[in-house]
Amino acid sequence: MTAVPVVIGRRPASGAGGDTARTVTDPSVRGLVDTHGRVHRDLRISLTDRCSLRCTYCMPEQGNEWLARTSILSTDEIVEVARVAASLGIRTFRLTGGEPLLRPDIVDVVRRIALIEGDDGPVEVAMTTNGISLAQKLPALIDAGLTRLNISIDTIDRQKFADLTRRDRLDDVFEGIAAAAASALRPLKLNAVAMRGVNDDELADLVAFAMEAGAQLRFIEQMPLDAGHTWDRETMVTREEILAALEERWTLEPVPGRGGAPAEKWRIDGGPHEVGVIASVTAPFCGACDRLRLTADGQLRNCLFSNDEYDLTGLLRGEASVPGQRDDAIADLLRSCILGKLPGHAIDDPSFLQPARGMNAIGG
Ligand code: SAM
Ligand code: SF4
Repeated sequence: MTAVPVVIGRRPASGAGGDTARTVTDPSVRGLVDTHGRVHRDLRISLTDRCSLRCTYCMPEQGNEWLARTSILSTDEIVEVARVAASLGIRTFRLTGGEPLLRPDIVDVVRRIALIEGDDGPVEVAMTTNGISLAQKLPALIDAGLTRLNISIDTIDRQKFADLTRRDRLDDVFEGIAAAAASALRPLKLNAVAMRGVNDDELADLVAFAMEAGAQLRFIEQMPLDAGHTWDRETMVTREEILAALEERWTLEPVPGRGGAPAEKWRIDGGPHEVGVIASVTAPFCGACDRLRLTADGQLRNCLFSNDEYDLTGLLRGEASVPGQRDDAIADLLRSCILGKLPGHAIDDPSFLQPARGMNAIGG
């Protein structure tokens, strides 16, 4: 195959972030390349919009408008899309939600996706979970081919956890983290959204907790994705504030070679432990973004913050049901979705409009 020169990470429009202009020659580039030269390798699949918690920054306590059960993609449909996506260069499938472990056939979903072969061999199957019921399900998930795990934990204080998630289930999360720590899955990552007046006094304690579990803590700047639209730029804890808090306890040294990863990383006191920060608001990584998303009801999205969706369900259940034409139709929709991708999301710009769906309904 002829090598195709690709410009990755052109500087996006004002406020959209991303500043890594570089040119690569990648002989495998023939798949999902957008008009800004970004090659897409990562598909996040939301398996459900339901959840065992009600984190304030994600879901309302009550009155959620759940997706109709009939609109949720079946496992056959998900696997069909994943197979076509892998043939177009997707290498990592991250299962998310809502809470992916609530899906009754989660082990089957993992097993069937893990069997898909991409151009470079078997694809990777990763999961982001709140950890509840993970301890019980982890052996079967690993046996099915799960290769990477991110567990979300924003506080290690029982009362704060109950207030933040509106559920008193911190012990279940601890149990899930302990099971993951005892498994061979590495790197193990713990995600924490930094929030003023909620957990900004325990940021270093969260890192210490992760280190003890053999995991890497990654702080996430809070994004405007809560169903209640209560996000406020003024009260958000920034990357700079997170680093300043950690530097009160440790010396941090930047780890070079971030590539397309959303997290910037720092070595703690010379290593081996590291901490990451995903500064989606104050230092977005749109210029190197290689992700696209599939919602539980079959809508393709090229960005968390896009207001455009590309309807796969209609295609899977409607006109594309002609045998022999389905793969081409799915591939065409994946390409259209990628071609519609904007250079960046501009959260930090006053003109920014929050998407209608909350994070649980998009898939984090
Ligand atoms: N329920 C699973 C969990 O919590 O890990 C998976 C879905 S959740 C939507 C995925 C990730 O998105 C979690 O790490 C969560 O903390 C993060 N998240 C949700 N809402 C967010 C927001 N408004 N800003 C930043 N991160 C958010
Ligand atoms: Fe559920 Fe995850 Fe959203 Fe929390 S962040 S409500 S655990 S989907």
